[in-house]
Amino acid sequence: MKTRVFVCFCALFVVISARAEKIALVNGTLINPMTEVVLPGAHVLIDNDRVVGFGDEITFDLPKDARRIDCKGKFILPGYIDTHIHFFQSGDLFTRPDAADLTSVRPYKDEVAWVKSHVNDVFARYLRCGITSVVDVGGPFWNFEVRKTANSTAKAPRVAVAGPLISSVSREKLDLGDPPIVKIDGPDQAREFVRKLAEQKPDLVKIWYIVDKDHPVDAFRPTVRATVEESHARKIRVAVHATELETARAAVEQGADILVHSVVDKPVDDAFVKLLKDRHIILCPTLVVFERYGRTFSHQLNLTPEEKAWGNPEVIASLDVTKIPQDKLPDRIKTALAKPDEALDRIKKTYEVALPNLKRLEDAGVTIAAGTDAGNIGTIHGPALFREFQLMKEAGLTNMQILQSTTVNAAKLFGGDTGAHIGKIDNGYFADLVILKSNPADDIANASDIDTVIKNGVVYPADSILR
Ligand SMILES: [Zn+2]
Repeated sequence: MKTRVFVCFCALFVVISARAEKIALVNGTLINPMTEVVLPGAHVLIDNDRVVGFGDEITFDLPKDARRIDCKGKFILPGYIDTHIHFFQSGDLFTRPDAADLTSVRPYKDEVAWVKSHVNDVFARYLRCGITSVVDVGGPFWNFEVRKTANSTAKAPRVAVAGPLISSVSREKLDLGDPPIVKIDGPDQAREFVRKLAEQKPDLVKIWYIVDKDHPVDAFRPTVRATVEESHARKIRVAVHATELETARAAVEQGADILVHSVVDKPVDDAFVKLLKDRHIILCPTLVVFERYGRTFSHQLNLTPEEKAWGNPEVIASLDVTKIPQDKLPDRIKTALAKPDEALDRIKKTYEVALPNLKRLEDAGVTIAAGTDAGNIGTIHGPALFREFQLMKEAGLTNMQILQSTTVNAAKLFGGDTGAHIGKIDNGYFADLVILKSNPADDIANASDIDTVIKNGVVYPADSILR
């Protein structure tokens, strides 16, 4: 009987705290990257799932009935947004058999089963990192199920998704019946595929614009154009994977809204910068992913303390290629292991182009949204974002520009009604916040010094999230 009464009280408390609690964050330093405002002695009032007021003690009266959380010495920011992840990939060594075929060690169907059974784990790791929204930029049709699950799970980020990638090349090794990448032959097929995608209400349509000697830039242009026209007719934006200058230029000329990854083959030119500005393109650089395949394969992985602490331990353990029997290693890994310096040199050369390109686009006023490409081999769901911040800093972005890229700018990439209510601390915006113990405007490394995460008005002490 006693137990039953206790249970009833608990249930009542949960209902009250979920539906009616006002929370006041008191005496923190509020940082709103959008306006570059840094306001000491600030209060933020949360009612239910929304921010309903903020200001300092002079301009803002806190209601008496609010539960107070003392934020003295702490820093209150909008929750971070990673605008480029893939739920269908775990980040482990076996997640891209098209890049490194280790299916004789772990069959791809086992990998996919593991991924599907760890979706909630991935959600929690994002929250632990203060990441309260993510954009999945392409995966199988079951991506739409992941979005649905996230939307009905408290301890999960908000999720926007694209469906399968519309691609210039095929990737049979990833096809178990619901492939993440679909080769599209020509404009008619593209239109048909977009119509099929549209039934699932994707937040984005994604094009995988892969160019090589058998797939020249111009051959795929009509497919890109048709995809854009069909998507725009349904008010869906199009994101394009394009890593060469001419591919990225062609994508934008054909009407793309978002460019994902950096241009890594040559410096961007004035005409390209102007094109991106004129068309209001959002660019997501995904710097971290460019080092992680090469570093993993050459056994030179440089995981950060955040990744080691908050990444999935099974994923991280898998990344040691020296544990794989020699006779099962694909040539790509054998070569990288034999010549690690060459692997590292290739990464260095990529950054020698990508980092100045990012700085140039940022200086020109192009909207830069932070994203990691997490889920790819060695790029860890959640904390990879903090390595992305380091690389953006190396590129010469200011701490505030980096914070803007992961909040206000990222919200624009997220898009829709949700995108219009995240990335900023303001009245009517979702109460998705991160509270830090040190100031990220002084040093971006402090962005991971997380005390508390608030998602949809629910408060999580950061240390409790992965327990
Ligand atoms: Zn990607």
